[in-house]
Amino acid sequence: MRIILLGSPGAGKGTLAAEMSKKYSVAHISTGDIFRENVKNNTPLGREARYYMDAGKLVPDDIVNAMMEDRLREPDCEKGFILDGFPRTVPQAKALEKILEDLHLSLDGVVFLDVDEETVVKRLSGRRTCRSCGAIYNVAFRPSAKGDRCEKCGGELYQREDDSEEVIRKRLKVFYDQTAPVISYYEGKNMFVRLRSARNSHSLLEELEAAFGGTE
Ligand code: AMP
Repeated sequence: MRIILLGSPGAGKGTLAAEMSKKYSVAHISTGDIFRENVKNNTPLGREARYYMDAGKLVPDDIVNAMMEDRLREPDCEKGFILDGFPRTVPQAKALEKILEDLHLSLDGVVFLDVDEETVVKRLSGRRTCRSCGAIYNVAFRPSAKGDRCEKCGGELYQREDDSEEVIRKRLKVFYDQTAPVISYYEGKNMFVRLRSARNSHSLLEELEAAFGGTE
């Protein structure tokens, strides 16, 4: 299974990708998570990406594309992958096409999680992420039963720096300006599916499986 998940920040890509990756034993590749890991470890990539992330801007295409080219060649991608947060610009979509062509691979689907702006702002401002395992909660919709600790691993829950309302609005503008054209880019192709993003990722997973005609 090789799938791209598209959608604005807060559309539910990360939650759905985690579910799918677990169910189908395929790699979950989140460019945002890779950047955050690099920022945490203060690598050269992290130092470069941080400036853009903190400002709610996109990291330049050449940096992202080179990183993804390496990532998609790793052995865990052989069984398939879910791309969460990439491609985010048309040049990235074209670069992905070239990478897949070189690897003799094709995509099975492009899924757009469609959600309105106010829902996104509510979701993201309430989002809490586990520092240890990356599990995602929401203070309003999906609080952790362990308060400010992760239910799964006991790790500390924190609010991402780019989940403040001001940066959220900026990230949404970037989405409409730069990522919406990626949706049009894939929309005409027959592997494209649009899903209304709901609160519960279980129902989204079911909808997705129905759209692709069952499991794989
Ligand atoms: P995310 O966790 O997907 O919301 O990504 C967090 C931040 O990482 C974004 O606001 C961007 O600064 C950066 N980022 C993640 N994926 C990409 C991408 N495909 N292209 C450019 N920047 C990205």
